Amino acid sequence: MSILPHHHHLHHTTTIRHRRHHHNHRIYYAVTTPIKTRPKLEPLVTTTTPIITSPKADDPGLKSTWSHRAWVATGCTTVLATLASSVVGSANEHMWIEPVLSGFMGYLFADLGSGVYHWGIDNYGDASTPVFGTQIDAFQGHHKWPWTITKRQFANNLHALARVVTYAVLPIDLLCHDQPVVMAFVGMASGCIMFSQQFHAWAHGTKSKLPPVVVALQDTGVLVSRSQHADHHRPPYNGNYCIVSGVWNRLLDELRVFEALEMILFFKLGLRPRSWSEPNSDWTEEAEDSPATFSHDTC
Ligand SMILES: [Zn+2]
Ligand SMILES: [Zn+2]
Repeated sequence: MSILPHHHHLHHTTTIRHRRHHHNHRIYYAVTTPIKTRPKLEPLVTTTTPIITSPKADDPGLKSTWSHRAWVATGCTTVLATLASSVVGSANEHMWIEPVLSGFMGYLFADLGSGVYHWGIDNYGDASTPVFGTQIDAFQGHHKWPWTITKRQFANNLHALARVVTYAVLPIDLLCHDQPVVMAFVGMASGCIMFSQQFHAWAHGTKSKLPPVVVALQDTGVLVSRSQHADHHRPPYNGNYCIVSGVWNRLLDELRVFEALEMILFFKLGLRPRSWSEPNSDWTEEAEDSPATFSHDTC
């Protein structure tokens, strides 16, 4: 998923490169400099998600609209239909181990996918990027004002991923509805991806205010923990991207997978990730008047 938003840039920059080899850097730099261009884009920003200036806790941009709720309902229905299809198919074929294992793989895949996607939108593109511009802008805003995610209403936070899940999963359901193992993987993966933003919001919560069951799931590593995600918002701002269970974070960071991908994209295509420009105002948390994002009971 994370690769998609860059197609436009890749295509664009590659085309230019054929003509003007020695001007690559200047061209790419212009493409990947978000903060300077953002104010000019303000009139294009929709009222749904992005927040350009420091938001207040009661900002209308944090509230759910009926459109958000409709998309989340559609996404949930799609995921539940996929899982139900898996259960019915498994019962008919008297098999349990395979779909359960497949569902577990889907859960693991979702965490990895959330990391790759999050890394992509944190580091590349800007508000004007086709399709993913709103998400990119929202995630960049999240680094500046992390506490806002705890004030966002449920459907406001999930609707973008619910839309992606609906469009991606419905065709798979139509094609593979008679394959319970596939349905288990797709249902779990898409469900976890859709709810990853809720898990992310919980990772920004304070222990005393979260439901005890959520704290238990975080503490046992089923959901991404508050302390692990807190490290994502601390220098050097280039790790802990996974936001479902966080199970991949350590491996990806120790093997420096994202750093390797960044080097490949830079040397092959000249794309410069935002995390290399640290410290700068894009990632640094602004002082805010709300309760702390990661309070002292984080760990
Ligand atoms: Zn991030
Ligand atoms: Zn966060």
